[in-house]
This record gives sequence, structure tokens and C-alpha cells, in this order.
Amino acid sequence: MTADRPGRWRRGTGHAAVLVAAVLVVAVTPASAAPPARPSGGHPGGATPGAPGIGDPLFPDEGNGGFDVTHYDLAMRYRPDERTVTARTTVSARATQSLSRFDLDFDGNTVTGLTVDGRTASYRRDGDELVVTPARPVHRGSRFRVTVDYQADPAATHHCAPPNNPITSGWLPTRDGFVTAGQPTCARSVFPGSDHPSDKASYTFRVTAPDGLTAVANGVPAGRYEHGGETTWTYQQRVPMATELVQVAVGDYTVQTAPGPDHTTIRNVVPTSMAGTLGPDLAVTGPQLAWMRRQAGSYPFATYGVLAAPANFRFALECQTLTLTSAGMFGAVPQSYWSPVLAHELAHQWYGDSVAPARWADVWLNEGHASYYEASWADREGYASFVDRMHTAYANGDTWRSRYGPVAQPSADNLFNDGVYDGGALVLYALREKVGAARFTAIERAWAARYAGGTGSTRQFIALASSVAHQDLHGFLTAWLYGTRTPPMPGHPDWATDPVG
Ligand SMILES: [Zn+2]
Repeated sequence: MTADRPGRWRRGTGHAAVLVAAVLVVAVTPASAAPPARPSGGHPGGATPGAPGIGDPLFPDEGNGGFDVTHYDLAMRYRPDERTVTARTTVSARATQSLSRFDLDFDGNTVTGLTVDGRTASYRRDGDELVVTPARPVHRGSRFRVTVDYQADPAATHHCAPPNNPITSGWLPTRDGFVTAGQPTCARSVFPGSDHPSDKASYTFRVTAPDGLTAVANGVPAGRYEHGGETTWTYQQRVPMATELVQVAVGDYTVQTAPGPDHTTIRNVVPTSMAGTLGPDLAVTGPQLAWMRRQAGSYPFATYGVLAAPANFRFALECQTLTLTSAGMFGAVPQSYWSPVLAHELAHQWYGDSVAPARWADVWLNEGHASYYEASWADREGYASFVDRMHTAYANGDTWRSRYGPVAQPSADNLFNDGVYDGGALVLYALREKVGAARFTAIERAWAARYAGGTGSTRQFIALASSVAHQDLHGFLTAWLYGTRTPPMPGHPDWATDPVG
């Protein structure tokens, strides 16, 4: 995410300082790893309730215990006359314990029906938890499907977000439809599921809208079916994705495609009324992709692009394969501002999306990397000096640690803070100064390759950096990531932190 925060977006100085938050965690369980299903004549009496959360210390109720989600099928029908959505979400999962009942994360909306493996199940709402009791226990190791029918009003108020979060609902109404924005805990207001990045899954989207409107979603197109004045658009996201990165959008859009590097397809989605002006702006996507793959290695997905939505919101979000921005950003700020923002969201596709944080405290792995490449792109394009930005971050280092905690120990009530963004980028800069540019690039590429499609933790990053650099970096990186004071910057003995005030 890139959020517009006071003091962080400096306009008119030639310096575009941008905050972007990307958060993803993924736990991928290969199908082949599933233990054999217990025979139906087993021990149903041993079934117990699944835990309401996956165990993230910052967000204890996020995700769910007792099962892993393998696939989501999201079917939505948009009715522009009512501006409502009729939805059916089918969650395919594998039980990791025998379940007498289990939870799905779901906030708001009106549930109209629920089945487990086709049988009507009982359910109740408990805050953000949808507590499901199937007609029969689900046995450990077995695969099961939960289908939830519901009605949604994209303009409704939700209570899914932690404090100080730029996003307060997973739904975002636009001039002629809606988009979605789930980071970090608001996918649950769009669809029921296991709303934590460590439970990644593949997705199928089937979105129906009246003729004249276009529906888009993450991944690649998989068919379009016209029927009775409506069209159903299908998309597949086969590479595992965190719930918070889901994008489903309906509106009067023009989809602009072009060949990209590594056999990818560039797909930008713009309001039809703005296609003539935004199309040339978004031509930067190709050069940014080519540049970013030189930093991080091959692009991890089949398609990438920007969705410019006709709504006023002051953030950009790295939805997997389809970054969300406000169309108004492009006219409201100079290219020296929005171009680095786009580089930030693109960098998240490697750092945050493909490799998601194992726990939310690891969010610096998203935002630190994205801010690092955002600043690198700004420097490359002559918008702002990278080293100057790092120097400024260094000066602020102790203040941020005092205010928000160490870089890798954020709190839930201010997850996307300056210390995670530019403070995280500063950690990476310190690492580069310590090991040299060539080894730093090797670390960056190895990280993106080793944990592609899954999750990574801070501990794993420290171990990988040490391995690739052929030196023990545990003490060095632990001080930078968990220290209450900013360590000395290698190569810059003159750099000093401002007094904490
Ligand atoms: Zn970000």
C-alpha cells in the first residue's frame, strides 16, 4: 500500500516520498502433502471446534484454525439500479483436525444461506467470525467445501480494519460500480474465508454485470459469457494469493493490454472516459517491469497492470497482478510523485505478494522492499536522490523506533508506519552497504525465488542473507530490525539521528 500521510508526500520539492503498504502472508500446503482421509467409520467423537484465529500475535482472530483453504470461488452479480452485490463464495479447504465446527472470517453483509458439502449447516455471527457447525463433523485430512450466499452493499460501513488504517472497508464504491481493497484485514468484508496471508489459496472469479460495464479481477481471463443483457466475466488466479490482495472491480472500464517481458501480459484497466489520457501515463508499466526484473528476478505472475478506479481515495494497493490506484491521482500530482508510487506497488508483486509475510510483524519485508525500490526508481528517473532519502530516514530512525517500535516489531494499531516503510528501506540500505551491491542484489533475488508463492519471515530473511553473503549477519540485522536505537550506518560514519522529540 502507498498511503498519503501528512509529511510523507512532499510535493513541489522534486522529492516524492511515498508510503506503500503491502502485506501478504501465505502458507501453501501442496495437495500431495495432505494426510490420508480418515475412514468415515473413524472417530467422529474426537471432532473439536477449530480455533477462531491462526495465531498471529498482532491479530489473534485473523485466519482460522483446523483447516487450510485451497481455493476460493467468488461469484458476484452487480445490480447498478440498487448498487448492490449478490454473492456466493465457495471455500474449498482441507481439514487439519477433525472439526465439530469451525470459523470463517466475515464482516458485515447479510448471509442468506450456508452449506457444507452441499448440506445445510447452522451458523451464527460472532463479531468478525462466522461460526459454522456442519451437519456432520469434518474429518481430519478430508477436503470439504463451504458455500455462503450473501447480499452486500459496497457503500455499507464495516469494522474490519485496525486503528489508523487507510482502508476501512474491503468494498470501495466507485462512480459506476465498485473495487475492493482488503489490506490488511478487510478482505473479510468482501468474502468469507481465512483472512490471513499465511493461508494463501488459488481463486476463481465469476462476476456478472449488465452489458456496458466491465468486470475485472486478479489473474488471467478465463471466459466471458453474455446472457440476457448481462455478461459474466471469469478470471483465474492460479498462483496462490493472500485474501488481502483480492481485487474484484466492476465499472465502465477499458482494458488495455500489451506484451510484457518474460512472456507476461501487461493489462492496465482505466475508466473509458479517461482512456486517452491515462493510457500514455500507464505506458510506464513496461519499462518499470523490465527494470524491476533486473533487481528482483523474473516476474512471478503471468500478468501485471494497474487498475485506475474512478473514485477518490488516497492510497494505492498492490493487489496481486493488478495494482489499485485512484484515477484522480494521475491528474492531481506530478509524474515525479505517481511514477515512484507505481514502482512501489510493482515491487510488492515480488515482496509482499509472491512472498507474503508469515506474520504481520514481518510487514517491513513488504514495505521496506517496496519503499527501497520506490526510492531507487525515483533516483533513476531523476526525481529525487536515493541517498538523500536514506539519510533523511536515518535522521528520523530513533524517533520512529521510539514512536512505533523497532522496524520488525510494529503494533497492530499502527501497522503501516514510517519505521516500517522508509525505516525498512533503511535496513536494506544498511545491508547493501555492509555486503556490497552485488551481494545485496543476489540476496534480493534469492529471497524472491526461494519463497515465491509462499510466505517468508524476518528470521528466514536474516538466515538467507547470511547464507547468500557468506557471512553471519544475525547480529547485524537483529540490531537493525529489533534494536530500540538506530545502529551506525556502514560507510556513513557521519550520519546521525535526530534527538527523539
Ligand atoms: Zn506498500
